[in-house]
Amino acid sequence: MPKTITSPVDKFSGTVILFDPLPLPAVLAYEESRARVAPHYCPDAWGMIVELPESKRAVAKDLSDLTDKEKKDRTKTLSALASHQEECKKCRSGLLGTAANIEHLNAILPCVMEWHLDGVPETPNSSTFPGSPREESTRLLDWLIREIGYIYTGEVLQENDPNA
Ligand SMILES: [Zn+2]
Repeated sequence: MPKTITSPVDKFSGTVILFDPLPLPAVLAYEESRARVAPHYCPDAWGMIVELPESKRAVAKDLSDLTDKEKKDRTKTLSALASHQEECKKCRSGLLGTAANIEHLNAILPCVMEWHLDGVPETPNSSTFPGSPREESTRLLDWLIREIGYIYTGEVLQENDPNA
């Protein structure tokens, strides 16, 4: 059953109909985009990351709970990690900002069956999708990629579940 979702962004109000289930090519586009947006750490970098206090705790806690020693160690580890990543040819920092938005859009386009949003063409592509206003465009893309993520993992959101 295709899934209709309602935009939370006023500037681009309306609905979007997503494929549900997602077609395999859309799943591939989603996975590839996620891999490019997420940072990649080499084993050495992972070694530092697992030493971070927040990695050691079973349940992620507020960083303000850290002891002074933990805070100091954390700062040291983070700066070692940053210098490592500058040099390392195997580590790759993730994408942020507009570069991430473009990657998200590449994943979103094959997952959408129909667009019914103000300010978005009926059949948008990477050249016609609105990139501004910047903040609203980013919020729209973030929301879409999150919604697609729910279908990808099979998570059911109560608020969007017509059977709830
Ligand atoms: Zn590395």
